[in-house]
Amino acid sequence: MNILNQPFNTSYATAPFSKIETSDFKPAFEVAIEKARKEIDTITNTNESPTFENTIEALAFAGEELDRISSIFFNLNAAETNADIQAIAQDISPVLSEFNNDIRLNTALFKRVETIYNQKDTLHLNEESTMLLEKTYLGFARNGAHLKDEQKDRLRTIDKELSQLKLKFGENILAETNKFQLHVTNQSQLSGLPEDAIETAKQLAESKNLEGYVFTLDYPSYIPFMTYADNRELREKMAIAFGSRGFKDDALDNQNHVLRIAKLRYERAQLLGYDTHAHFVLKERMAETPEKVTSFLEDLLFKAKPAALREFEELTEFAKSIDSIEKLEKWDGAYYSEKLKQKLFQIDDEQLKPYFKLENVIDGAFTVAHKLFGLNFKQASNIDTYHKDVITYKVTDQAGELVAIFYADFFPRSGKRNGAWMTSYKPQMIKDNTNHRPHVSIVCNFTKPTPSKPSLLTFNEVTTLFHEFGHALHGMLANTTYPNLSGTNVYWDFVELPSQILENWCYEEATLKLFAKHYKTNAVIPQELIDKIKAASQFQEGIKTMRQLSFGLLDMAWHGQDPTNITDVKALENEAFAATKLYPDVPENCMSTAFSHIFQGGYSSGYYSYKWAEVLDADAFEYFKEEGIFNAAVAHKFKIHILSRGGTEHPMVLYKKFRGKAPQPDALLRRAGLIPTK
Ligand SMILES: [Zn+2]
Repeated sequence: MNILNQPFNTSYATAPFSKIETSDFKPAFEVAIEKARKEIDTITNTNESPTFENTIEALAFAGEELDRISSIFFNLNAAETNADIQAIAQDISPVLSEFNNDIRLNTALFKRVETIYNQKDTLHLNEESTMLLEKTYLGFARNGAHLKDEQKDRLRTIDKELSQLKLKFGENILAETNKFQLHVTNQSQLSGLPEDAIETAKQLAESKNLEGYVFTLDYPSYIPFMTYADNRELREKMAIAFGSRGFKDDALDNQNHVLRIAKLRYERAQLLGYDTHAHFVLKERMAETPEKVTSFLEDLLFKAKPAALREFEELTEFAKSIDSIEKLEKWDGAYYSEKLKQKLFQIDDEQLKPYFKLENVIDGAFTVAHKLFGLNFKQASNIDTYHKDVITYKVTDQAGELVAIFYADFFPRSGKRNGAWMTSYKPQMIKDNTNHRPHVSIVCNFTKPTPSKPSLLTFNEVTTLFHEFGHALHGMLANTTYPNLSGTNVYWDFVELPSQILENWCYEEATLKLFAKHYKTNAVIPQELIDKIKAASQFQEGIKTMRQLSFGLLDMAWHGQDPTNITDVKALENEAFAATKLYPDVPENCMSTAFSHIFQGGYSSGYYSYKWAEVLDADAFEYFKEEGIFNAAVAHKFKIHILSRGGTEHPMVLYKKFRGKAPQPDALLRRAGLIPTK
C-alpha cells in the first residue's frame, strides 16, 4: 500500500520523507480524495437530522488524510521541488479545486449547514464552536450557496470574467515590464552604481547580444538604479517607464480592465448581500468594515503627516545642499534618501554581520521563547527530513510534555523558492480526547556557511528569522479543538501580530546581549552599534508611512464605494492621493494600472492590513515594554489569549483579553519616532 495513505510509523508520526517517492503522490492524492468524498457523502446523506456534531464538527475533521498529503506535497513543491513535482502540481491543483467546489456547491450539504446556522442562538455553543459554525456557513454563503439559480449563474459568469481580467491585467504588466530596457553604452552614465549592479547589467546586455549595459524594470535591476545612479535624467526615464505601465492608451493599457474589475467586484458583492466589495472582504477581517478601515488610515495620516512633511523638507534641503536640486521629483526620492541615510548613520551590514552567526541567532530566538513561554528546544536525530540541511527539534514545555516538532530549513538551493515562510506538516487539534501536537516548519534563504566562514546574517535576516519564528510559535503553541481554527488560521489582518511582535525583541539591548556575539572573539555587540540599529530603524518612517497609507486609501477608493460612475482612473487616483502627496504628480504615470496587489493578487480591500498589523504589534509590544520585555505575566497572557487560541474567537476580543483594551496607533507612532515617547 502507498506509504502516504497509511498512518506514519515514525517518531511522533512525522512525515517519512526519505521513504516517499515522487511517484507516490499522484495515486495517494487520488485515494485520499476518494476517501474524503466518501466522508462528505456520509455527512450529506445520513438519515439523522442535522446537528452541530454530525454536520459542522464532522466537516471540520473530514479529509484529514488529504490535508496531510497536501501539506507534505505543496511544502515540498515550495522548498525542494523539481520538474516531476511541478508537473504533478499542475495536474493535481485543478482536481483539488474541483473537489472543493463540489463541496461548496453541494446543495443538500448546504441545507444541513444552514439549518444548524439558523438555530445558532438556541444551541448554546461555546465560543470556538460558534466560530466554527460561522466560518463553515460563510464558506458556503460567500460562494453563493444560498442564491437562486439565475443568481448563481450570474455569479459564475462574474467569477469567470474576473479571473480572465485578472490574468489579462497581469499579462499586460508583465509585457510592459519586459518591453522596456535602458541600454547604456557610455560608462560615465553608470556613475554611482555599485559593482554588482553594473556587473548584472553587463551580463544582461550580453545575454541580449548588446554592447554595454542593460537595465530593466525588474526590481533587482530597477531598485539599485533608482537608489544609486547619479544620472538624474536616466533616473527620470526609468521612473516614468516604471510608473506608466498599463497607462499608455495602447494594446497593453489596463485602465478599462481596472474599471471593469472594480465594477464586477461590486456587482458580485451586491449579489451576495453586501454593500460593496470592501464590505464583503472585511466581513472576515478584524477591521470589520470599510468605515473602520478608512478612519484607521485617516487617523494615522493625521498623526504621521507632520513628521512626513518635516522629513521631506529635510530631504529637499539635503538634495539642494549637495546637488542644487530646486524641486524634488519622484525619481530623486530613493537616491537622496540613501545618501542622507549614509550621512546620518554610517552603518552597514558588513559591520553587523560578524555579530549575527546563524547558530547564535537561532539560539537567541530559542532563548527568547524559553524566557517568555517556557519552551525548550532540543535537536532531534530521529526525525526524517527531505534535505540534509533541514534541522529538526523536539519542543517541550516546562513539564517536559511535547509541544511540537519544529523543522528549520535555512539555506537556498535550486529547488527552493525565494523568500522566507512558515508552514506546517500537521496541524494541532483535539480529537478523540487526544491533543495532537503540530509539526511546524520555517523555510528561509540565508547565506550558506563556507569552509572558512560560518553563516553570518544581515540584520534584516535576523529580523526575518524572528518574524518566521513568531509565526512558528503561533503554530506550535496552538491549543484548539478544530484544525481549521488552529494556529495561524486566523483573520488575515491578525496573522502578522505574532510574527511582527517577535521582531521587536531584535532591537532590544537585553535581547541582543544574549546572542549577538562576535563569531571570532565572542565579544558582545558594542553599545554604539545597538544605538545605531535603533536610530536607523526610524529613518524616514513618516515618508514611508505616507506611502503605505496612500496605497491603502487608493485600495479603499476602488473597493469601498459604488464604482458605477467612475470613468477616469487617473482622476480617481489624484483624489485618493491628495492628502498623502509629497512629490509633484507625474501626469504620464498611474499607480492603479499596475497595482497588482489589489487587482491581481489577494490584497483587494486588504492593503491597509500591513499598517494594521504594525499597529497591533507595536501596541502589544509596548505592553511588554511597560512591564519588562521578559515579564512572565504579560508573556503568559500573550500565550493563553493570542498564541494558543488561533481563530477560535474574534481577534478583537482576544486582543482585548490580552491587552485589557483595544489597540491604539500611538505605540506605533512612538516606535517609529513620529510622536514623542511617553
Ligand atoms: Zn509574516
